[in-house]
Amino acid sequence: MGAGSAGMCCAIRAAERGLHVLVIEKDSVVGGTLHLTAGHLSAGGTRRQKSKGIDDSPQKHFDEVMKISQNTANPEIVKLATELAPKTVDWLEDNGFEFAPETPAIIYGHAPYATPRTYWGNQDYAGGRIATAGITIFNTLKPIWDKYVEEGKIKVLLEHKLTNLVKIDNRVVGVKAQHEGKESIFHGKNIVLTTGGYASNHEFFKKVTPDHPRLISTARPTSTGDGIIAAQAIGANFKGAEMHNSTLGGIELEPMSGRTDFWKQWARVSNSVDRKPREIYVNEQAERFINEDEPNPDVREKLVHKQSGRRFWLIFDETALMAGASIIPQWTQEKIKEECQNEKAMWKADSISELAQKIGLDAEKLNETVNQFNQNCKDKSDPDFARNLTNEETVFPIQNAPFYAILTYAYSLITFGGLATNANLQVLNDDNEPIEGLYAAGEIMGVSSTSGDAFCGGMVLTPALSFGKYLGEVL
Ligand SMILES: Cc1cc2nc3c(=O)[nH]c(=O)nc-3n(C[C@H](O)[C@H](O)[C@H](O)COP(=O)(O)OP(=O)(O)OC[C@H]3O[C@@H](n4cnc5c(N)ncnc54)[C@H](O)[C@@H]3O)c2cc1C
Repeated sequence: MGAGSAGMCCAIRAAERGLHVLVIEKDSVVGGTLHLTAGHLSAGGTRRQKSKGIDDSPQKHFDEVMKISQNTANPEIVKLATELAPKTVDWLEDNGFEFAPETPAIIYGHAPYATPRTYWGNQDYAGGRIATAGITIFNTLKPIWDKYVEEGKIKVLLEHKLTNLVKIDNRVVGVKAQHEGKESIFHGKNIVLTTGGYASNHEFFKKVTPDHPRLISTARPTSTGDGIIAAQAIGANFKGAEMHNSTLGGIELEPMSGRTDFWKQWARVSNSVDRKPREIYVNEQAERFINEDEPNPDVREKLVHKQSGRRFWLIFDETALMAGASIIPQWTQEKIKEECQNEKAMWKADSISELAQKIGLDAEKLNETVNQFNQNCKDKSDPDFARNLTNEETVFPIQNAPFYAILTYAYSLITFGGLATNANLQVLNDDNEPIEGLYAAGEIMGVSSTSGDAFCGGMVLTPALSFGKYLGEVL
């Protein structure tokens, strides 16, 4: 069910074994999130690492995932994921996947691994610029997929939406799917749910993550949790949503739209390795709450989660705007100035008081916060947050009008809750017993299963590909 990252791999491997595979896909195209993902894969013990003299193994990868996630990830599932990961990366390479030349690398967008074990493709990565390099994976899988579709080994029903699972006693024997308003039943020996996460389903997100203020999403619109909802209806166990974590810097250009775009409108505030801070971050109380130079993304994410509304404003002046790499990676400084005229997500003012009034913060408090920061810059010391103000690169007193504010949210690319499975990837019921005939692979299992409440690099996409591939090999 679902022809995305996990589903395509599953169907391809099963077809290779001569099985007859029926794929039900609600979209008009296959590929799912492969069309959008950054495509960072992580694996320890690959051929490519060996060829570059990098000493690594699934066990070392496992140990680091458990350490980064502070043991909140599911060890049984991480074990399987890390063991399968190098086989998946080697398999992609065997099928023509071309690596970006600098990979494997250590990346700093998430808490970094100690070893270079992150890989991405060479298509749409533009010399190291973060981009939708996941398309390299899609372009590797699609010709194999097309071949099996042509040969009749994979039968695909596009624009067919899974609605229900058909269960007799404790065994799932089929599914119901809707096409052009008509519902049909399809039977199958084994049903593999690969319908992805729920980061585009605001209602479901709110229900399972009630403490999260508002979903600001950049997921594919197809990620609506349909497979989870269908499985829950027959008693499947859903867990892990309370571990939800978000990415920093989402800009909601249309207020209350609930949407942002990871590739077009996010402020690079995820860590201070890529770009040193030239601004301060203030919360709804118009106070700083973080060392803006803090390099660890995990520390930053968790601090933002403690702020009301899980949002903050970047406050800076004209000097800081113009001083270096753009605060919004794909935008010029001119474009930021233009957007300020809309006064929806970005604002510009001649004084801090006027800026505060425009963004709805307490003017006296914001002046106090800015004045204190400016004094800290003079003193070369930041007693409350320990930002290194002896480093010229981070000393930007906010004093040259116009002054700017950009509102950013903790936003969601992926979702952490999902269907509980055992190590055979069988979906479990509320008594933790397997539901016969029903399997799950990919984000539908919840990112918390492979990454806990943290972001472990590559530990969403790689397990999706690996688990789909594995089920195609063993079922
Ligand atoms: C912008 C972005 C960047 C990312 N970068 C990374 C990264 O660098 N590294 C990493 O590890 N992870 C990353 N991720 C996460 C990762 O890419 C996804 O979690 C993963 O691709 C999901 O794979 P999947 O097979 O579970 O779901 P998908 O690829 O989303 O596939 C699900 C498929 O099921 C279909 N479907 C849904 N509902 C139904 C239904 N009712 N009936 C039939 N079909 C249905 C969908 O249309 C879709 O085709 C990123 C995600 C995003 C959004």
